[in-house]
Parts: sequence; C-alpha cells; structure tokens
Amino acid sequence: MGEHRMLINGGLVEAEGGRTFENVNPATEEVLGRCASGSAGDMARAVAAARRAFDESDWARDRALRKASLLQLQEALEGEREELRAELVAEVGCPLLSTFGPQLDAPLREALTWPAGQIESFAWERSIGLGNPFGIGESEREVWKEPIGVVGVIVPWNFPVEIILNKLGPALAMGNAVVLKPAPDTPWNATRIGRLIAEKTDIPPGIVNIVPSVDHAVGEVISTSPDVDLVAFTGSTATGRRIMAAAASTLKPVFLELGGKSVNLVLEDADLAATVPASAAMCLHAGQGCAMATRLLVPRARHDECVEMARAAFEAVSYGDPTDAANLQGPQVSRRQQERVLGYIEKGRAEGARLVTGGGIPKHLPRGYFVEPTLFADVDNSMTIAQEEIFGPVLCVIGYEDEDDAVRIANDSPYGLSGLITAGSLERAKRVARRIRTGTLGLNGGIWYGPDAPFGGYKASGIGRQCGIEGLEMFTETKTVGWPAGQS
Ligand code: NAD
Repeated sequence: MGEHRMLINGGLVEAEGGRTFENVNPATEEVLGRCASGSAGDMARAVAAARRAFDESDWARDRALRKASLLQLQEALEGEREELRAELVAEVGCPLLSTFGPQLDAPLREALTWPAGQIESFAWERSIGLGNPFGIGESEREVWKEPIGVVGVIVPWNFPVEIILNKLGPALAMGNAVVLKPAPDTPWNATRIGRLIAEKTDIPPGIVNIVPSVDHAVGEVISTSPDVDLVAFTGSTATGRRIMAAAASTLKPVFLELGGKSVNLVLEDADLAATVPASAAMCLHAGQGCAMATRLLVPRARHDECVEMARAAFEAVSYGDPTDAANLQGPQVSRRQQERVLGYIEKGRAEGARLVTGGGIPKHLPRGYFVEPTLFADVDNSMTIAQEEIFGPVLCVIGYEDEDDAVRIANDSPYGLSGLITAGSLERAKRVARRIRTGTLGLNGGIWYGPDAPFGGYKASGIGRQCGIEGLEMFTETKTVGWPAGQS
C-alpha cells in the first residue's frame, strides 16, 4: 500500500473533504489503493506555503543546508529503493528491466547528487568589469544568479521518478521552493518522496509541497497563480500550450519538456544488419518515452531488406507482465492510452501504410492495457503516424533517396526532441547531426543522457533544458549590480 497523503507546508495531509482517487495497476487492471485528490483550494494552500517558505526562510541563501538536505533525501530514497521499484512497476506498468536504468536506478544515483555537488561550484557571481557608459565615472559591475522563487512542477506518468528528481534536484539546489503536481495515473512515487522529505530531511516546511489530484485542472492553479514564479512542465505538447497560455496572464516564464517524433536515421554506409534490428528498442516501456526513435529512416533502395530485419526484431520483442525481468515491454499506462495507440494504428492502415507485424491487442494478454509491438512499412512522412506522437510500441519505416532527402525528412516534423544517427564514420554522423534540428542526438550507438547533459527540444518539443548547467540556470534569475569603482 502506497502513501496516500499529500505534503503541504511540511505536513502529510488528507485532501479537502477527504477526497481520494483510485491508483490502478495497468498490467492487471486491479486497484492498488487510493490517493488523496487535492482540490484547487489545496493547491492554493500549497502555493501559499511555498511562497511564505521562500520569502521568509533562509533556504534561498543557505547553500550548506540545501546541499545537506538533498543528500538526506538521496539517502532516504536509497533506503526505500526496492519498495519504490516494486511500486513503480505496479503503478506505471514499466518493465522491471527499465527500473535498473532510466526509470529508477539511474536518476536515484545522480539526479540529486549531481545538482547537490554543483551548489558550491556554480557560477553564482561573475564580474563583468569596469564600465563608464554615461561618462560620469567608472563603476564596478557584477552579475549575480539567484533562485527564481516558487517553482510549479507538473509531471507526467511515463518516467515519473526520473522526471520529478531531475526537476526537484536542480530547483532545490538553486534555492527555490517547489509545488509539485504528479500525474493522476502514477501518484504514489511522488507521495512517497513527499513522506521522505517530511520525515527524513531538514528541508524547511513549505519548501517542497506535493499535491496529487485526479483533476487535471488543479494544475491550472500553478499556471495562473501570481505567487508562482516559474512553471516547469513535462507532458504533452497540447497541455504545454495550455499551460503557456494560462501562464501568460501573470507573465511567468515556462519551462516545457514536451513530445517528440524522433528519427532513427540509418545512413547507407552503416552496418545495416547491426543497426536496424536495434530499432525495436523503442518498444521498451511500450514506446512511452518522449525521446524514443519512432521513425526509422532507411535507404529507399534497401527499404524491403531493412523491413525484414526490423520485422524479425519486432517479432522477437518479449512483452507482457512487467514484473518479469525478461520483458522489454509492459502495458500502456491506461485504457485511454491503449485506445489512443490503437486509434493511430487504424489511421496508419487507413492512410495506406503497410502493417508488417502487430497492430492489435495481444490475444494472450486480454487483461491489462497491452498493445502488440507494431511495425509499419512504406510510410510516407506526411502520414499522421509519421507526424504525430503515438506514445506506443509503433515504429514507422520510411525510405529516403540520399543524405539530403534523409535530413529533409528528419526535419519535416513539428517536433525536435531527440534522435539516432548511424553512419559509416563518426565524421559523417556528426556532419549529418549538425543539420538535424533536435535537442539531443545519439551518434553511432552513443548515449547522450546524464544529469550533466542538457535535455530538451527544438520546435514543438519544448522550451528550455533539463539537467546540466543549462538545467540549473533554468531555475535562476539574473541580477546585475554596479558600484563606484574603488569601493570594496
Ligand atoms: P499530459 O500533458 O496529459 O499531462 C501531464 C501533466 O500535466 C499531468 O500531471 C496532468 O495532470 C497535468 N495537466 C493536464 N492538464 C493540465 C492543465 N491544463 N494545467 C496544468 N496541468 C495539467 O501528458 P501525459 O499524458 O501525462 O504524458 C504523456 C505526454 O508527455 C507525451 O506526449 C510525452 O511525449 C510527453 N512527455 C514529454 C517528456 C519530455 O521530457 N519532453 C517526458 C515525458 C513525457
């Protein structure tokens, strides 16, 4: 049974009126238990607590406390790592395998410790030297970085711990207060973090508040409140647009990590037999990752050969029970998501793409929200399945004529989040990479990911970067000061 209480102003509390909602296991459709469902009033109380804590405590200036608190939280999470692992598999439906990497162990290792380690070395102040712009005497000038204030963090369900820690760690390290709203599909990992903050850390009351809710609109309190200074959001592009519009009324900056339609671009001089089968890795966690490579671009002259290689790999994907460590793929997170993915598959067929394998609900998995690993060939990049984010185990194979055509197709997308490029040489992979308009790229099998690696998107994939120095700077304001030269 998970933690059902919210964290507001340092207290673990019920929602207004005692309201709760069900937490459902997407692999079995069983109700795991319940979670407090915060109201707009609860969220407003959380925002007020964060405002007070930021304005009235010394958190923003006490770097030693922040570092120690982040390390305490790290230790507390480590102490419940196995409970968290089981809970994540149960509520997210992610394969156990993924928890040994990006779903849990990778963020647990570094998402808090890396920003904690940056607190002392971060360039909080820099001199920009003497200036005498008006000719009336020289001034010494400095630029100071300061916390931005109260940060509203809104997260989705697909990699909840990874996303929460990669926002919470940098936001707290930089001295901010946080109000976090987890996705209603996966509340317990967030409420567990809330309990550990309350019980095991010296983070002052109100500096972190966690308000789950079954009602998406409760998140709007964050976007519209004049007491929130920044919204940091990960989720769909449609919701990102709504948040940006809502935030405009109070002119607050928005930091958006949104969807993607990334390419796996295999150039004709690459080792196709070694590269193409690996495209089935996008079935990990049922394709529910924003940075997954969902368009496989292959030389047109070798399209059919590549499709056969991909077919063999897709038909070999092990999927089903997410608690089985042998499975790469579990269920979609909800019935709604399952239906959405099946709807896209129907659209692909209707628009003339060739369904090579998969395409439906697996017969041997009637319970749970499963979708078969699905491969489409002869896809034209203008088709809906090549343009829109499906968020399911569905790969589109698209043929290109030459390098220019491949680059054109890769960039012919509203999104620009990530991608893979494989070429016969690193030099060629880099040359092509410089022409692709996305925020991250893996070249010749390399992996760009890490707490020190800025992640985010071009175009409709977002605004701003999570992680790395750029990710720390997202949570800061800039203050420029000047004083008469000679004073010290
Ligand atoms: P979503 O946009 O429906 O919801 C995300 C979060 O926003 C949830 O907590 C939800 O309750 C909240 N929300 C919904 N409407 C809101 C509103 N009007 N105001 C404030 N908050 C609101 O996304 P989802 O279905 O949970 O997640 C899937 C999507 O997220 C996919 O499109 C995926 O690409 C994207 N995603 C992007 C990244 C990234 O880093 N770029 C990472 C993970 C997921």
